[in-house]
Amino acid sequence: MRALCWNGVNDLRVERVPDPTILGPQDAIIKVGLSSVCGSDLHLIGGHVPTMRAGDIIGHEFLGEVVEKGPEVTRLNRGDRVITVSIIGCGKCWHCRHEEFSLCDNSNPQPAFEEAAYGHCTAGIFGYSHAFGGYAGSHAEYIRVPFADTNCFRVPEGVTDEQAVFVSDAVPTGYMAADMGSIKPGDVVAVWGCGGVGQMAMKSAFLMGAERVIGIDRVPDRLRAAQMKAGAETLDYSRVDIYDALLAMTGGRGPDVCIDAVGMEADSGAPSTKGLAIEDLYDRGKQALRLESDRPAVLRQMIQCCRKGGTLSIVGVYGGLIDKFPMGAAMNKALTFRMGQQHGQRYVKRLFEHIEKGDLDPAYLLTHKWALDDAPQGYRMFKEKADDCMRVVFAP
Ligand code: NAD
Ligand code: ZN
Repeated sequence: MRALCWNGVNDLRVERVPDPTILGPQDAIIKVGLSSVCGSDLHLIGGHVPTMRAGDIIGHEFLGEVVEKGPEVTRLNRGDRVITVSIIGCGKCWHCRHEEFSLCDNSNPQPAFEEAAYGHCTAGIFGYSHAFGGYAGSHAEYIRVPFADTNCFRVPEGVTDEQAVFVSDAVPTGYMAADMGSIKPGDVVAVWGCGGVGQMAMKSAFLMGAERVIGIDRVPDRLRAAQMKAGAETLDYSRVDIYDALLAMTGGRGPDVCIDAVGMEADSGAPSTKGLAIEDLYDRGKQALRLESDRPAVLRQMIQCCRKGGTLSIVGVYGGLIDKFPMGAAMNKALTFRMGQQHGQRYVKRLFEHIEKGDLDPAYLLTHKWALDDAPQGYRMFKEKADDCMRVVFAP
């Protein structure tokens, strides 16, 4: 079959690779119908995840048809139209039984404790390198899904492929971001990052009772989508001081819930220097340290801006160590931190109900549908945020 393989930093190629086969009794083989890019792939492509190997197939947000299944798969049939949650749960371990699927004990075959200490080891993730189980990804004609009864979900009749594909990842991640904020009616929620995940977080925040949602980005079409599609107010961080603006919008108190839908490669843009730790101001003067000191730009801005006693919900992905983290401010403001990889299996049923009812429609995230052969160019467009690209989806 054909598949999109990573061959080194920024080197993606469509290659011929062997078809996947059933390896375990709970496996299914899915013929991929649609497979989307995700902001998480940019961390891989850029070489920020050191456990990628040349030839690895990437992609983890997909929809398709069950074409083969192992003898222990009982809830699916050949021909079923399904989505698969990006992060793999076994369905049986302590964490899966507590609906913490992305903390599964059994889906990542190399759960080394020293790796866990640095944040490399959770559950297995499709197409996400060897620290996450080494599973082949979905930018391919076929994909093997382990523990298929737990991870595949039949798509209801009334939901289109273009809506359903994002229920793999962007929708549950955004929904979980809002859920972790424990939003109360009347809350003001600020969301950093208006990509697919941020868009779904904004929409979900309204579903959970937020009175005002403020989306922050600098890409004009994404800010426009946040307004028109998610119903949010927006701030362009390249034009305004986010700290001043958020405080002005909340009577000086700050948002009740701050959501990070950006992650570790945040564009530092023009972050405020007000209220930053003294070392930061010092580092800011040193050009050589600029990147390091700006790295957790979004996290620091959220700690600065959030109201006292508020909640930070982090779904943007981080790896390794984070420096210049203002622990003192976080402690003294009594902030609550919630974070994690999505537990999509917990939310899929509810999300399909929302989509069928019409109060959530993720289809607008799909701005481009391309052939798999054009995937390298598709990623380039997505990375550069060119041509109003929010998410490009490949149809093998
Ligand atoms: P994306 O790349 O499409 O969007 C990220 C957006 O953040 C971009 O529009 C960018 O302009 C904006 N941005 C960059 N720097 C910023 C800053 N300083 N302030 C405000 N906005 C800024 O990515 P996506 O697909 O929406 O994913 C967003 C994040 O969520 C990524 O880190 C991704 O890895 C992560 N993610 C996490 C999970 C999970 O399970 N936790 C699942 C999927 C994606
Ligand atoms: Zn498990």
